[in-house]
Amino acid sequence: MRDKYCGKVCTDDIGRTLTLSGWIFRRRDHGGLIFVDLRDVTGIFQVVFSPDISPEAHEKAGELKQEYVIQVTGKVQKRPVGTENAGIPTGDFEMYATSFEILNTCKALPFQLDEEDVSESLRLRYRYLDMRRPLVQKVFLERSKAYKVIRDYLASCGFYEFETPFLTKSTPEGARDFIVPSRLNTGSFYALPQSPQLFKQILMIGGFDRYFQIVRCFRDEDLRADRQPEFTQVDIEMSFVDVDDVIGLCEGLVAAMYEVLRGEPLQIPIKRMAYSEAMERFGSDKPDLRFELPMVEITDIFQETDFGVFKKTIGENGAIKSIVLKGKTLSRKDLDTAVEITKEMGAGGLIWIRKEKDGLQSPIVKYLKDNEKTAMIERLDLSDGDVVFIMSDTRNKVNDIMGRFRLYLGEKFELIAKDQFRFLWIVDFPLFEYSDEDKRFVARHHPFTSPQGSIKDFTGDYESFKAKAYDLVLNGVEIGGGSIRNYRMDDQFEMFKLLNIKEDDAIEKFGFLLEALEMGAPPHGGLAFGFDRILMMLLGLESIRDVIPFPKTQKGTCLLSGAPSKIPQKQLNELRIRVTGEQQ
Ligand code: ASP
Repeated sequence: MRDKYCGKVCTDDIGRTLTLSGWIFRRRDHGGLIFVDLRDVTGIFQVVFSPDISPEAHEKAGELKQEYVIQVTGKVQKRPVGTENAGIPTGDFEMYATSFEILNTCKALPFQLDEEDVSESLRLRYRYLDMRRPLVQKVFLERSKAYKVIRDYLASCGFYEFETPFLTKSTPEGARDFIVPSRLNTGSFYALPQSPQLFKQILMIGGFDRYFQIVRCFRDEDLRADRQPEFTQVDIEMSFVDVDDVIGLCEGLVAAMYEVLRGEPLQIPIKRMAYSEAMERFGSDKPDLRFELPMVEITDIFQETDFGVFKKTIGENGAIKSIVLKGKTLSRKDLDTAVEITKEMGAGGLIWIRKEKDGLQSPIVKYLKDNEKTAMIERLDLSDGDVVFIMSDTRNKVNDIMGRFRLYLGEKFELIAKDQFRFLWIVDFPLFEYSDEDKRFVARHHPFTSPQGSIKDFTGDYESFKAKAYDLVLNGVEIGGGSIRNYRMDDQFEMFKLLNIKEDDAIEKFGFLLEALEMGAPPHGGLAFGFDRILMMLLGLESIRDVIPFPKTQKGTCLLSGAPSKIPQKQLNELRIRVTGEQQ
């Protein structure tokens, strides 16, 4: 239905008669001539309807409205000097239509495609119109490029692409499962996969050596913080590898994606940081390294303190930590706000001290001894005007709140280099973490993760036992994570034992994996990237919904299709399901 795409018309076409098809993006009437910007997925091309060239075409062009779909034929020519449009690649050319056909009409639009402040709900309700907007369209073309670069890169590294079941058994990744009732097995349910974790391990045991999948995962979480109930992972598993092998491979992949999406090379290897350092210096396992502002511990300086707050902390084996803000002028109001902010974050208090020409200034300075002041000035390398914020409490609380306060300071005082992309591996995670909800230690990554060294060396100290686990962080956001797995049945069982998972439970839930581990499972490990999130960040977008063609709202609804929806009673009967309580 066309000789060329609109955006591809070029110098070679001058003098040629071409047929193009597309949408009417804009239409302008100019004293007898009608100008139309014809748009398709590749771009825009200007078509002119003139009574001198074709009176019929010109007359019929009067009917054309925005977003009508047409097929038009005419001769391509150079635009007259002075009328070129440098803003589009085809801006030097135009076509005078000799004939055209309206292939479809378009009703009045709910919003103009070139309007900027259209509400997100309206955009999602009419996503197909939203997608015709060149900037939105570009995002999905980039997404398509990203799939290709991932496939090409991984294929070149010897990976095989697989699909794993969507109708499956619940696997433990920590979130709630979406479940699907089985009609043929009354009373039984499938779970949609939170990740293909067990299947990818089984594929290693099946001997495929290197697996990947660009796969949808489902987690029935509350949709706070820009999450989606279904999202895409780039899921990877490799055999006969250790941590460095997986990290090395993934760095190559991230660099390939970065290059395609950002148009410049990424410096690898990517910096690594131990979990403990990240927590102690930045109070987070995903520190944003686009700015410094680390926490500095000063507990030791106050061992002999007379200041009650510090004394209490020292007595309780807590931590006193500081953050120094250099080169900024802070008003009294700024300081009071800082105290308020940390209180809202749950802090008992925040102390500030300003370095002045003649010493330290602060409401608490009278409680400090001279040697403490001197030690602080030295340790924190204080210059006149610097402000020190100090928090004193249990170590975990100080790390957590100071970590968040650091981010607040970064934003408030514009310390974050927003144009930078700071990748960081966090390694040496603890194998376990305490779950307040379950009142027991759970696996920090997942229960198939191998410890560093042998699990048989576990001494009972849950907090310091480390895992062969790693996360990739970009600008303070976790974009991927994985681990080396337990590949021997006895080790895996030991892990379950330490997690207090009963043998029967383990067999009921993952018996198929356990059985396979006893049949010659190779050492293996892998990782999964959050594909949507990486795209969002590399494309400089605000929300994960911007990179998903048909995203859900915060309430988990699809505004386009109206899902989720009620189903007829007959269907419920077939499934032997009765809905109790109110259906919304
Ligand atoms: N399945 C894990 C996840 O979804 C990733 C991995 O361990 O490979 O986070």
